[in-house]
Amino acid sequence: MGDFDYNDLLENAEGAFLKGNKSQERLKIPDPDIIYEGRVSIVRNFADIVDMINRDPKHVAKFLMKELGIGVSIDSRRLLINRKVSYEQVKEKISQYMDSYVRCYECRAPDTEIQRIGRVDVLVCKACGAQHPIRLVREAKTSELKPEEGKEYSVTVTEVGKSGEGRSHLGGYVIVVPGGKKGQTVKVRIKKVLGTTAFSEIIASK
Ligand SMILES: [Zn+2]
Repeated sequence: MGDFDYNDLLENAEGAFLKGNKSQERLKIPDPDIIYEGRVSIVRNFADIVDMINRDPKHVAKFLMKELGIGVSIDSRRLLINRKVSYEQVKEKISQYMDSYVRCYECRAPDTEIQRIGRVDVLVCKACGAQHPIRLVREAKTSELKPEEGKEYSVTVTEVGKSGEGRSHLGGYVIVVPGGKKGQTVKVRIKKVLGTTAFSEIIASK
């Protein structure tokens, strides 16, 4: 494949990628609005945040209590935290909640629900159909698993894009795998990273 064709494919693939991720753009989580009364931190827009991510307020509150190690209580639409916590701390914990319980582990779409299958809570994605047992995400996955240009990775092609290119996922990134077939595990080298899309070439297939 010549360079021209490859660049053409990159453009098409990027367009398709952006279209496919509309649901992710749509989700705008409000920033926590915190005031302090004595030593108590009050998240005034807790209900707005929880409404937006479509989860049980009690579940979110319990998560924050465990993660912050502080007692919390729900007071109508507000959340009371029994200690002074910073805006950044709350924002970070909410984003950790999103990564653990809301965003699909594969395509990162927020259109998911938690289903109990047997004795396991499973995150089911309505966007790509992925199902994964819930696991607590400790760090932002994007910084942990970041495809780097020139490096090699082993990836599994989970879908095929509009231009026939294979697609895989690594952390919060989409890996475009030209020539990759659905279900195939291949070793790729990253050629270019644009935003959260990485374009690769197959160097070995199984
Ligand atoms: Zn998904």
